[in-house]
This record gives sequence, C-alpha cells and structure tokens, in this order.
Amino acid sequence: INAAATLQALDAAYHFHPFTDHKDLHARGVKVITSAEGVFLHDDKGNKILDGMAGLWCVAAGYGRQELVEAAATQMAKLPYYNTFFKTTNEPAVRLAQRLAQITPEGLNHAFFACSGSEAVDSALRTARVYWQTKGKPNKKIIIGREYGYHGSTTLGASAGGMADMHRQAGDMPNFAHVLPPYWYGKGGQMSPEEFGIYAAREVEKKIHELGAENVAAFIGEPIQGAGGVLIPPETYWPEINRICKENDILLIADEVICGFGRTGKMFGSDYFGIKPDMMTMAKGITSGYVPLSAVMLHDRVAEVMINDAGEYYHGFTYSGHPVSCAVALKNLELIENEGLVAAAEAKGHILRAKLAEAVGDSPLVGEIRGVGLIGAIELTADKRTRKGFAKKGRTGTICRDLFIENGLIMRAVGDTMVFAPPLTITESEIDTMVALAKKSIDQTYENVKSEVAS
Ligand code: PMP
Repeated sequence: INAAATLQALDAAYHFHPFTDHKDLHARGVKVITSAEGVFLHDDKGNKILDGMAGLWCVAAGYGRQELVEAAATQMAKLPYYNTFFKTTNEPAVRLAQRLAQITPEGLNHAFFACSGSEAVDSALRTARVYWQTKGKPNKKIIIGREYGYHGSTTLGASAGGMADMHRQAGDMPNFAHVLPPYWYGKGGQMSPEEFGIYAAREVEKKIHELGAENVAAFIGEPIQGAGGVLIPPETYWPEINRICKENDILLIADEVICGFGRTGKMFGSDYFGIKPDMMTMAKGITSGYVPLSAVMLHDRVAEVMINDAGEYYHGFTYSGHPVSCAVALKNLELIENEGLVAAAEAKGHILRAKLAEAVGDSPLVGEIRGVGLIGAIELTADKRTRKGFAKKGRTGTICRDLFIENGLIMRAVGDTMVFAPPLTITESEIDTMVALAKKSIDQTYENVKSEVAS
C-alpha cells in the first residue's frame, strides 16, 4: 500500500471491523466519518449525513459539545488516570456514583464502573452468580434471556443475548436459557397487546418452572429490545415480570444500555415501564458516547450481601472508574438535565412518529411505525393485512438501509425493520428533514420490491 493510498484502501488492508461481513465491506468500500456537529455527520468525500441512530444509540446530547470536550481536557490535565482497585478512588468516580444513585430508581445505590455495555452486562451476570453463591445457593446459576435480546459481545453477554450465531461463536455456553420476546407485532398473533404482554411474561415463568427456580440466578432484559428491532413490550409485561422474579426468588437485571439517559422520554426505561430491577446496566448515553464508560447499579439488597458476606470480589477492570470518563459523564448528565433533554425526547418522539405516519404510514410496505420517546422503528412487511415478512428476510431492509445512506440518513436495518434513535437534541426542522429522507428511501425501496408486496 503506497503513500498515496486512500483511507478506504488503507482500511481494507489493515482494519478488521466489529460486526462486519468483511468480504461485502471490501466490495462496497467503507465510509470514513471525519467530523460531526449537532445531528449531522460529515464524511471524507464531503457528504453530510443526518445521524438518525446517534451513532450506536449513544449521542444523547448531540455532536460537537464543547462542554464535554472541556470536561475531558480539564480532568486529563488534573488526573488523567488512576485505578480504583483496592483502596484508591478519584473524585469524578465518587461524584458520579452518587449522581447515578440519585437518578436511578429507588434502592439502586451502588455503582460498579466498567468501560463498555458488554463489560457492564458481564459484571452484572457475574455478580448475580456470586450473590447466590454467597447466599449458600450455588446451584442458582442459569441466566434467562430472550430471543432477539442483545446484551453485548463478551462470552457471557453473547450467551445471554438471543442470537444463535453469537451463541455458536461464543462456544454454546451452558447455563443460559431463552424465552419468547414481548414482540407483539411479530409474535402476538390474534391476542390484544395487553393479553400478549401477560402471555409473554408467563413464558418466563414457565421456563423458570421447567428449569427449577432453585437453578435460576437471574432474568435479564432490555426495557425495550433495541438491537433486536425496537421491540416495545405491552404495558402489562414488565409488572408481571416483576412479580414472577420476586415470587421465584430470581434476580431481575434491567439492561438499560440503550434505554438509559432519556431515550424513552424518561430517565430510564425502568421508569417508563415500572421495572423493579435488582441490578441495572448502563453505558452509551452515560457520556453521549464521547468517551467509553459503563456502570452496573446494584440494589441495596444485592449490595448488602456483596459487601458484608462475599469476601473479596475477584472482578474488575484497569479502567473501572476512569476519571476522564466519569468527568465527562457528570458534565453530560448536567447537559441532559439543564437542557431538559428527557422531556424533549418524549415531545419530539410524538412529533417524529406523527410525521412519519403521515409521510409513509399508507405505503403498502409499512406494517407498523412504533416508538417511545426518541427510540423507534418502521417495520416493513410484504403484507400489511397478515403482517407477513419477506421471503428472503433482511434483503428488503438492506436495500432500504443502503438507500437511506445514499440519501443522507442513517437508520439501521434489523432484518426488515428500520430502527431509529436520533440525538435527543434533534430540532423540529431536522425531524422534517429526517422524515423527508426516510420517505424518499422507503418509496424507492417499494419500487424495488413491489412485486413481492401485497397492495
Ligand atoms: N446491552 C445492550 C442492550 C446493548 O444495546 C449493547 C450495545 N448495543 C450492549 C449491551 C453492549 O454494549 P457495548 O457495545 O458497549 O459493549
């Protein structure tokens, strides 16, 4: 590769990407993002792209926030790094732990820090097992997750998630089980959403009884299943899950990596649905993605056992409680609060969905437009009446996604479902742009797949 090689050629030669089909990537070429401002990205070819995904569901407070840049720079100059093992800590980590205890649901008062959502999930699952070992019930080690769930890429997280390919690549780990997701549009059949919510929750109870509650450590679920296609549970679902976990003595872990920090129009998805977690995992929006950081919040009832009876905790990371990340998170939380971004997410979500419904709701290709706050999805269907999918699942979504990008809008295809989660700072006129670009791409997709769609 010579000195004049393009970034695309260098990337193809030297960069091995996560979650990528490399052959396909090399055939089509990679997009190099060079800068960003507000809700817009710029690439090295001079294109301007509206980021309808906030990166990977991260950038709550928008791109180009100088306040976050300064918080990082100031902390880096003062104390760039020190570890929090044994008996040391740092001021931003202490202050952030307190702040998180204040804004999370009651009782979640103890923060364990890590770098990524995957590490947070891994830590929560590990903690669940240590908790039961400490309580003298070492057989309680099975983790129940859901089909279409996503809980990160470590071996534990991949095993808890619902993707068969990830299970296989992680080595098909023992002590994991999976149940029906509360995906009403796709799996609800003839039931009302309320009935289906109860039905899907009872599938968890059925699984617990089948496995024996004495063998089950925890149930883990995202309040809304994001990467699985923004699957929004009916309102009956989570209260029933609360009951089932409590009655069967099983820890409930809410994975708030996507839903946390205002995405749903509440600070946490658990607030929106009334979830009563024993542990909560969070990442992404905690720093608006500017620096890596994640956390697990432990409820007092878990922390008491871990602190008083578990002895030494053989788990943690070099960067747990990284002072620069924690300083950025504190400033980011201040921005979210001072700018009213949580309430804004709710209000703008209504506007966005109403405008999408008006623009593309009548398209024969659009089965459902759903969302809560600023997380949502447009589910494409081959037949609106029967909700039938396409013969080759994911192909239509891929065409649609590529058209979106060509037209200057990033939304993600999950199978044939187009998901979105723009920065919470998106303005009404930017919403209009987003809707117009989405309409253009969906109309073009319809022309391409018309022969497969019932009109
Ligand atoms: N949990 C959920 C719900 C997620 O959506 C993700 C990432 N998309 C993760 C965990 C893993 O986070 P990370 O990629 O930061 O490891």
